[in-house]
Order: sequence, then structure tokens, then C-alpha cells
Amino acid sequence: MNSCLHEPRGYELGDEILARLKGAFSLGRGEFVALDVARRGDFFGVLVATIISQNTNENNTLKAFASLEERVGVECEKIRKAGLSELAEAIRPAGLQEQKAKAIKQVASLLYEKYGCDIGKLLSRGVEEVIRELKQIEGIGDKTIDVLLANYGYPVLPIDTHVRRVSVRLGLARPGSYRAMQKSLHGFFREEARLDAHLYLIKLGRTLCRAKNPLCDECPLSDLCCYYRTSRAPHS
Ligand code: SF4
Repeated sequence: MNSCLHEPRGYELGDEILARLKGAFSLGRGEFVALDVARRGDFFGVLVATIISQNTNENNTLKAFASLEERVGVECEKIRKAGLSELAEAIRPAGLQEQKAKAIKQVASLLYEKYGCDIGKLLSRGVEEVIRELKQIEGIGDKTIDVLLANYGYPVLPIDTHVRRVSVRLGLARPGSYRAMQKSLHGFFREEARLDAHLYLIKLGRTLCRAKNPLCDECPLSDLCCYYRTSRAPHS
């Protein structure tokens, strides 16, 4: 992995990267389950979908989420009352179902006990409070919370495995802790562009900037990319 970094940080580079990615890719329905659910204004559903999506692909997430909707209903009250085994069985297509079912049920219980099952009341308390509350639940980490926050409209850039790999290769962050990498990325992407940056960097990571054998020759960012410049570009 390269350790080259674009310095100083600035929004011009982030703007350019995002403009090129938007020109090269489109985001279809079903590619980001959490985004599709957020567009319905269902932020409890966003959190549930993001828990389900851990360690699996979007296709399996979609199947598991649809199954949960059909068998139980993706609503705080219904999930709170459902049995753990019923929840686990419903989300089986996504794998790690026992662990994920436990986290989903704990979220529903917490929201019921402290916010009357109204996730909007929690979200309106601000980023720090949302992180403090949700991090108490085993199985909910920084990325899951940030996906919820970003889809709700807070200016945070969630970092998943694709964003981590792609941003290090591009030279937008050095490998490090979640929050250190996020701070670096926030230096390149404007507040209002951070959710898009998250989505399009994932899209790049799923398509061209794959973990093994990235397709750099097809990449619209190759002339801006540290990895390409230091290890792939022909040397003169
Ligand atoms: S040039 Fe290659 S390494 Fe750099 S972002 Fe594109 S695909 Fe990834």
C-alpha cells in the first residue's frame, strides 16, 4: 500500500474527484440499500439496513432487509416485540444473523425506552449524542453510526472497507484509526458533498479500484492517484 498523501488538503481536489466520479458512474436503485431506505425518510430502517449490511454485499443485504420487512416489519415496536430467533431467521441471507439480530433488537429496545421509539428524537440531539448512545450497543460501530448520521444530513463521511482502501490509494488519507482517516477526508470534501463522496468512493471501490488488481487504466482518477503515480504509471 502506498503512503503518498496529497498536501495541503483542500476542497478543490475533492470537488474534482467527485465531479469525475459522477461523470463516470451512476448510482442505481438497490446499489445502496441504506440510501434507498433513507429516501423514504425511514431512519430506523437506515440503521437496521446498515447493521444487516455488515460483512456482506448489497445483494444479500437487500434480500435480508426485504425478508425482515415481510416477516416482522422494520419498525421499532415490531422488532422490540419480536423474538431473537425470529429476527435472526428473517435476516439469515445476510449472514452473522444471531449477532446482527441481537444488535437490531437492542437498538429497538434503547429507542423504545429512551425516545418512545422515535429515532428522530435521538437524531435531533446532534452527532456526539447519537454516537454516545449507539456505541453502547455491541455490534454497532463508527461506520454504522456514521451511515445513519450522513443519511440524516449530518456532514460526516462514513468509512467502510472500500472508502478506506480507495482513499489511501488516492492519497486522501493515510491508513490509521477511523476518526483520523475521517478527519483527513473531511479536509478534501465539503460538508454538503460528504455523503456523495462516501457513495461514489464505494462505487469506485466495487468496480475499478478493487482490492486485488485494480483496473487503473480504466479509472477516471488515475492522473490524481498516488498509488497509480508511484507504482503503476510508466516511468520516463
Ligand atoms: S488509479 Fe487505480 S488505484 Fe488509483 S483510484 Fe483508480 S483504480 Fe484505484
